[in-house]
Amino acid sequence: MSDENPPRKNAVTMEKLINLCKRRGLVFPTSDIYGGLGSTFDYGPLGVELKRNVKEAWWREMVQYRADVLGLDSAIFQHPKTWEASQHLQNFTDPLVDCKVCKHRFRADKISGGKCPDCGGELTEARNFNLMFKTFLGPVEDSAAVVYLRPETAQGIFANFQNMVDTQRVKLPFGVAQIGKSFRNEITTENFIFRTREFEQMEMEFFVKPDVTEEAKWYAYWVDFRFNWHIKYGLEPEHLRRREHASDELSHYSSGTTDLEFLYPFGWGELEGIAKRGSFDLDQHAKFSGKDLTYFDEDAKTRYRPWVIEPALGVDRAMLCFMLDAYDEDVVENEARIVLRFDPRLAPIKVAVYPLLRKGGQPEKAIAVREILQRHFMTAYDQAGSIGRRYRRQDEIGTPYGVTIDHQTMEDDTVTLRDRDSTAQERVAIGRLVEVIRDKIGWTR
Ligand code: ATP
Repeated sequence: MSDENPPRKNAVTMEKLINLCKRRGLVFPTSDIYGGLGSTFDYGPLGVELKRNVKEAWWREMVQYRADVLGLDSAIFQHPKTWEASQHLQNFTDPLVDCKVCKHRFRADKISGGKCPDCGGELTEARNFNLMFKTFLGPVEDSAAVVYLRPETAQGIFANFQNMVDTQRVKLPFGVAQIGKSFRNEITTENFIFRTREFEQMEMEFFVKPDVTEEAKWYAYWVDFRFNWHIKYGLEPEHLRRREHASDELSHYSSGTTDLEFLYPFGWGELEGIAKRGSFDLDQHAKFSGKDLTYFDEDAKTRYRPWVIEPALGVDRAMLCFMLDAYDEDVVENEARIVLRFDPRLAPIKVAVYPLLRKGGQPEKAIAVREILQRHFMTAYDQAGSIGRRYRRQDEIGTPYGVTIDHQTMEDDTVTLRDRDSTAQERVAIGRLVEVIRDKIGWTR
């Protein structure tokens, strides 16, 4: 994190967001009834929809809309040799120091001044602490049964490289993408869902010819592509920047990494990393498995191991950033409101349906309209309280559209369609609603 923190462009604080998330059922602390479980979180009815939409946005842009990327869903458990080959057993460590006085433990690279940040006491020498969770596969708890919960999804992709080449008629350059849970026994968890011990990742390994020009071209391409994805789905361009790692910061496998950093309320911090991994992983797995793991280049009539560019993003961390930038406070008809200005594609609920009055057949009609819409979109139905209050309840969770059934609906089968951001309303025939809303959103989901 850097010291120079320009002002953010909205009034959000972590506290405001955490309260909203809890109050409206986006994010709850895990095991709340038992007092929580250090920095783990559950996603409520709205959080799970936002999460699905963030993953959908990634999958569409990284897989579905392209011709050169394939999908994969590999297991969380991998053969233990995987982590020897990838060097996670040796290198996936954080340097830890303990305070000799208060016994608190810290990441050595996160403190300055050489004294305990809590009590000013003397610190021990740094020791390396492996971040992988260990467990046992099968009924016998001995060293032969030890397995690890994967700390990244990438290795499942490398372990399937041969399967891709043998079954999918791929030609370089091509990518393999995966979304799934990863686990890291982080020492300092912090800032809500920014850093947790259980989280989801969206990773893609893009295999290119082993050639520096080719590598440089695709590295630049993916840094730009990933930067633009975040902007496209709603991040403020001034809250996003690229940062190249210095050579002493690079991971053991990387010859170049660019972080996309986001301006959190607590300062600039990593959102996504794009790394050049070379042929490190395929070389290592070839060595440890005894398998070839090469690609046959038809044009050059040679075999080689491709090099890799990897964009890696946390789902939870991306959600945090989209929520932080969607947050806004304004005044509508002399009343203050909180509004989450989500891109409609990310909004948990796309359209809410309201009867203006709880009589005259309006509630029944509204329920019938909801039944049409919910085959295509996530919807909500609300008949409680004044219409203004109902609009504001949906604004607060970012619902982009509202459909109101009024007395005119009962005569001509039209409704009003309200826009969350402008609060403008237009009249639309019920028969055209699905099409009109789909065209505004761009997706049905
Ligand atoms: P850091 O240095 O902050 O620990 P990292 O550089 O080890 O992170 P990567 O291994 O590059 O992170 O992981 C890729 C992406 O996965 C990160 O950019 C982030 O979005 C996400 N991520 C990594 N660790 C966590 C975590 N503990 N909780 C939530 N998301 C995470």
